Amino acid sequence: MLYKSTRNSSIRVSAAQAIAQGISEEGGLFVPETFPNMQNLLPDLAKMNYRERAKAILKVFLTDYSDEEIEECVYAAYDPVKFGNETPAKLEDITYKGHKCHMLELWHGPTCAFKDMALQILPHLLTKALRKKYEGKTAVILVATSGDTGKAALEGFRNVAGTKIIVFYPDNGVSPMQLKQMKTQEGNNVCVCAVKGNFDDCQTQVKKIFTDPEIKNRLAEKNMIFSSANSINWGRLLPQIIYYFSAYLDLYNSGAIKSLDEKINVVVPTGNFGNILAAYYAKRMNLPINKLICASNANNVLTDFINTGCYTKNRDFYTTVSPSMDILVSSNLERLLYHINGEDDSLIKQWMQDLNTTGTYTVDEKTKSSILELFDAGCCSDEETAETIKDVYNESGYLCDTHTAVAVKVCGEYFARTKDNTATVIASTASPYKFGKSVLGSLDEVCPEDEFETVEKLSRLTGTDIPQAILDLRNKIERFDNKSDKDTIVDFVLKELSL
Ligand SMILES: *Cc1c(COP(=O)(O)O)cnc(C)c1O
Repeated sequence: MLYKSTRNSSIRVSAAQAIAQGISEEGGLFVPETFPNMQNLLPDLAKMNYRERAKAILKVFLTDYSDEEIEECVYAAYDPVKFGNETPAKLEDITYKGHKCHMLELWHGPTCAFKDMALQILPHLLTKALRKKYEGKTAVILVATSGDTGKAALEGFRNVAGTKIIVFYPDNGVSPMQLKQMKTQEGNNVCVCAVKGNFDDCQTQVKKIFTDPEIKNRLAEKNMIFSSANSINWGRLLPQIIYYFSAYLDLYNSGAIKSLDEKINVVVPTGNFGNILAAYYAKRMNLPINKLICASNANNVLTDFINTGCYTKNRDFYTTVSPSMDILVSSNLERLLYHINGEDDSLIKQWMQDLNTTGTYTVDEKTKSSILELFDAGCCSDEETAETIKDVYNESGYLCDTHTAVAVKVCGEYFARTKDNTATVIASTASPYKFGKSVLGSLDEVCPEDEFETVEKLSRLTGTDIPQAILDLRNKIERFDNKSDKDTIVDFVLKELSL
């Protein structure tokens, strides 16, 4: 299996190269040439555990990795010690406004957000890729984060030989617990820096550095290459496909769906469009999925795009209670558009250039209607998010975080509007304890000033456990206090790497 670039269809690279490079040199994103049909394999996959399912799915895409290499990656990543369970992606049933929903809990990993599902395995995939393609070189991982990616990437790459990681996050744009997690990060190859700007500023600057030929040359002289741990990297998206298969098969095994061709809906709280794109890829591999439902917060650029075909970032940016979704430029949409518009790289180049220069682009009618056939979309304000956390707790005794609540709310509206009664999986993307104040406040409780007292109160009130990783943060020392303007990110990187 080879990979091509969304901005130059004639490029062909192996999986290892796509993962090591992160992004194509002309700025395009790597996508698989074809999507294998997994339908006939579903009965076999149903009998397997998560790790065996992971191996089977990775194998069809990582054809330049040996079976032993894939097995090593999978076992190192999805260790029950790290995820507290044989199954890193558990399903919990709730009812919301009388509708049954299956919550796919993806946050039982070391940093309590779904990013762990991919970032626990990416460093292993990447170090093997380096050995194949860039023997002896150090990979410098640059990360732009809206909160959760940063911590999950730092944790995944901590002390991994042959790698160095620098994380940029928006100053005042992440939750107190996310901030604490990043500032206290341990490891001899890690660095974090606050940026005076929002996530889009961080992402734009990081993408610019990746594709700057002069910086690339200076890096090469020092025997280093850049790579990415953001979901622009194929190695981030691929592991996310696995849990949609696994959830479907678990639903089948539990009797919630009756046959291996019964369809399900998937609802995803969305920011950079990575997680929902992985669900689309699962559908392309013939996992029976009916609608992909894209849920946004007040930064509802995707809701508008899916419903109108016009993407515009020329709008107010809001800092919300679901900070990991505070994004106006969703990078992975580029991949979806490429697959849907008949893999027309010149059109993609045009649209992305328009976005760069005018802040907006409009897709053709055919692309627009194909998207509407596959996707549904909705958005949710901070007030509605709080109300939903409370409603779900009162109706089901289930505590969800602010991001997951956005998805639940949009799912409820979808059910009411369409009368669809297809079995529905909602991606539950973070532990409620990462966003303690917002969650406790939603239950009409007074929040103590201190973040740790807040989570203790939340735990007492709801009888749910605080994840150990959050408890451990309390006594950790803050190691980083770097700050940068958005236009000086480049200088920060050069200095940090002694270039
Ligand atoms: C990153 C993140 C999202 C958004 O996921 P994308 O893949 O960027 O669309 C949603 N919820 C949480 C908790 C996250 O950390």
